[in-house]
Amino acid sequence: METLEHIAFDRRLDVLDMVYRARTGHIGGSMSCMDILCALYYRVMDTEKIKRGEADRDRFLLSKGHCAEALYAVLADRGFFPRERLLSYARFDTALAEHPTRKIPGVEAATGALGHGLSLAVGMAAAARRDGSPAHIYVLMGDGEQDEGSVWEAAMAAGKYGLENLTAIVDRNRLQISGNTEQVMPLSPLAARYRDFGWEAVECSGHNSEELVRALRLRSPQKPVAVIANTVKGYGSELMENKAEWHHLVPDEEQYACIRAQLEQRRGAVSRG
Ligand SMILES: [Mg+2]
Repeated sequence: METLEHIAFDRRLDVLDMVYRARTGHIGGSMSCMDILCALYYRVMDTEKIKRGEADRDRFLLSKGHCAEALYAVLADRGFFPRERLLSYARFDTALAEHPTRKIPGVEAATGALGHGLSLAVGMAAAARRDGSPAHIYVLMGDGEQDEGSVWEAAMAAGKYGLENLTAIVDRNRLQISGNTEQVMPLSPLAARYRDFGWEAVECSGHNSEELVRALRLRSPQKPVAVIANTVKGYGSELMENKAEWHHLVPDEEQYACIRAQLEQRRGAVSRG
């Protein structure tokens, strides 16, 4: 069986191909959040139940919707739609747009206007609890997204109502479109801030599957859980890692070859379990 890290590198290679072919995308943030998505979709959530659309299925929201290509690569590999459809990413005649919508199998809501996903998740979690459903709601936000005031309105509500069926994950890569998060709008100590809003909060490596799975399975009575996943923007390619400009850059032919080689090398370095 392949390790989760190995699978995540395969999906990063999918993303690289999608962005290179489409000449658009958000490659840096897609690389940083890939281990989080893989932990959720290959280990933590029951994806068959989600495919069947069962009322008490777990739900996932990609609040940082601009990294849609990362989600599409995972959904296709998990059988939500044929992998060939990834070739259509960002074309005019496709549902696989640069932000996800409900036209895509497995997508619960249109997202990517930043700062809205946590509010949606709070509503879904409150509804699930009202209905006596065992569904758990997961939402993935960017760290730059924490600058949106609406995130903190939703965080207050989740704490007040003790939504223990809600997990918010922050892709803590410390970069946003305009630079370092601590210079643009300081967030640290982010876990402590969520605790102050009535949440359980944990920090973990966002590139260690074991740590991620443990954090994503954490439950706390009467409290929503925040997982601050420490990640590297552009993870897997030294050409891109920790460089803010790779938020939205598209590799040229030479860069594509370099990134592909670096990703393949790193994939080879992660152990096969
Ligand atoms: Mg970021």
